[in-house]
Amino acid sequence: MVTVEADLVHVESRLASGQMDCPSCPDGVLACWGFARVRRVHGVTGPVRPRRARCRSCRVTHVLLPVMALLRRGYGAQTIWNALVLRSRGWGHRRIAENLGVPASTVRGWLRRVTGRVESMRAWFLQVAVGTGIDVAIPDGSGCGWSDLVAAIATAAAAIGARFGPAVVLGVMTPPLVMVAVSGGRLLAPCWPPAARRI
Ligand SMILES: [Zn+2]
Repeated sequence: MVTVEADLVHVESRLASGQMDCPSCPDGVLACWGFARVRRVHGVTGPVRPRRARCRSCRVTHVLLPVMALLRRGYGAQTIWNALVLRSRGWGHRRIAENLGVPASTVRGWLRRVTGRVESMRAWFLQVAVGTGIDVAIPDGSGCGWSDLVAAIATAAAAIGARFGPAVVLGVMTPPLVMVAVSGGRLLAPCWPPAARRI
């Protein structure tokens, strides 16, 4: 699975011109290899039909998941980001669910996933911020793990925006997009931290 920009025309042109590196081998380049199954992502207009690509060297196939979707999650990154922000304000999962129009059990699932890894996720995003940005100001801890996590993701987004300009290859760098891009879509996956990935 490779996270790609939402602009599918750009994805096609990068694939066609051999500009997409294979994440499975050192020198491989990805080429078009059909499409993965169509999926609907709440909060994203229209069905998402991810491109499938195959490495010209190692022959491994990869699904190119648009950056606005998290792996195996039926909701867009923006919705999940909104839930994190509301949680950082002290909201419980039921109130968040009602506000976002998402089933309470779904929101509870997201928050449970993050609860055990709030601190390691914060450290991960700060590491991205420091590794990417120039003179990044690390936000002070607020005493609330959720607020600190939200601040860390925002800091990473600002650092990437400052380094590469607001519109980098994945599109305009908002916190939800950074959340997906730097975790390779695995923000809420069972294993954390995700394997290092190229943005
Ligand atoms: Zn390869």
